[in-house]
Amino acid sequence: MSASPNRRRFLVGAAAAAVTGLTLGSPADRKAMAATPASSSSPAATQGNWRWCNKCQCLAFAGNLSLGPCAAGGTHDHGGSGNYVLTQDDPSAPGQPNWRWCNKCQELAFAGKPSLGPCPAGGSHNHAGSGNYTLVANVPPQPGYQANWRWCNKCQALAFSGSYSLGACAAGGSHNHAGSGNYQLRLTA
Ligand SMILES: [Zn+2]
Ligand SMILES: [Zn+2]
Ligand SMILES: [Zn+2]
Repeated sequence: MSASPNRRRFLVGAAAAAVTGLTLGSPADRKAMAATPASSSSPAATQGNWRWCNKCQCLAFAGNLSLGPCAAGGTHDHGGSGNYVLTQDDPSAPGQPNWRWCNKCQELAFAGKPSLGPCPAGGSHNHAGSGNYTLVANVPPQPGYQANWRWCNKCQALAFSGSYSLGACAAGGSHNHAGSGNYQLRLTA
């Protein structure tokens, strides 16, 4: 699969995947599929259905058939999570770009480091098919946003650091947020 996805090819791939049931579409696929077939002109904006996992604390996309393997064991569990809405493929959006969806574990992870980080599915995260997500960090509290989301310097994932546990990390032990900014995510009901 190409690392710089062509959306039209992706639609074809996603449709084929839906038929075979073997693989899942990416968040970007879903957005494209929900739009009109000629979707290239529609400005990307936001994408919901990102959820907090109450086991590993990570943010993961919940719109695919598989919730993704969890570093705490089993699959991610989004019980108790709100609906997080991310900004996608918007170069004018303020914040830090290069956050990507992993098509193996469904997590959001930072792709700007030499290492993509270990994936709870095994190997490293794989961002093929992902859009380019932009997150805001280190800004004053904004209405409708939730702070205390942090980058893990071990697994590269974004995880909530406001719980009693930092959450299991795919690199072993718990997430380590040293060096991270304080990210704010838009949270809807
Ligand atoms: Zn999890
Ligand atoms: Zn992964
Ligand atoms: Zn981690």
